[in-house]
Amino acid sequence: MPETPMLEVADLRAGYGEAEVLRGVSLTVGAGEIVAVLGANGVGKTTLNMTLSGVLKPWSGAIRFNGAEIGGAKPPAVVAAGLVHVPEGRKIFPNLSVRENLELGGYRVSKSGRDANLQRAFDTFPRLKERAGQYAGTLSGGEQQMLAIGRGLMSEPKLLILDEPSLGLSPLLVEEMFGLIASLARDGLPIMLVEQNVVQSLDLASRAYILENGEVAMQGEAAKLAADPELKRAYLGL
Ligand code: ATP
Repeated sequence: MPETPMLEVADLRAGYGEAEVLRGVSLTVGAGEIVAVLGANGVGKTTLNMTLSGVLKPWSGAIRFNGAEIGGAKPPAVVAAGLVHVPEGRKIFPNLSVRENLELGGYRVSKSGRDANLQRAFDTFPRLKERAGQYAGTLSGGEQQMLAIGRGLMSEPKLLILDEPSLGLSPLLVEEMFGLIASLARDGLPIMLVEQNVVQSLDLASRAYILENGEVAMQGEAAKLAADPELKRAYLGL
């Protein structure tokens, strides 16, 4: 029997007011996987993330996480269940120190747990340790992105949803960031990677979903999608 996926989204519909944005999205993320959710501006990636993290209420459909239905649960309950959404790096608190930003991510966790998690975040991102006392707003774009992920790790996630971790980074830093994401997954943390960067995301992920106009237009093994002529034409201008 196939293993039950960690995250299973089934026929999810959501939007704003009368405007439907997600028109029946279904996807899964399994234990140990990196799954990319790709698409151009405005296809509904942010709306999907906000619905999965409990900020937006689903109109219909199911969100099952670790065997439980979490569709409609509020953000603190979703985080407590272990589904943690990391917003893109500019959404850190610029006027708090790096350490304070990290500690906020672990507010649910006991003091001793928080200290251990902080140590783990510093081990994962040594640059954050070097800059622990610095205002987060003084960090470079790549470091702010690391801080956003580090803050997510502080809440002891069972699955991370990463929102455009390559946004605004130089090609070299994107490579470094994707290397770090790969190592988190190797250590057993499944990752849903929501990105516009199609080429590098397909390189990193094992499977991918391509969103168009609030629907899954293509899906499959990342390597197969990367070689797909239709995808190349639509997304890579080839
Ligand atoms: P981007 O990468 O630019 O954020 P996206 O793929 O994340 O794009 P969404 O932000 O989810 O796309 O937007 C999908 C659609 O929903 C767009 O047509 C957008 O105009 C609309 N939309 C987004 N936020 C709102 C809102 N608060 N109220 C009404 N419509 C919205």
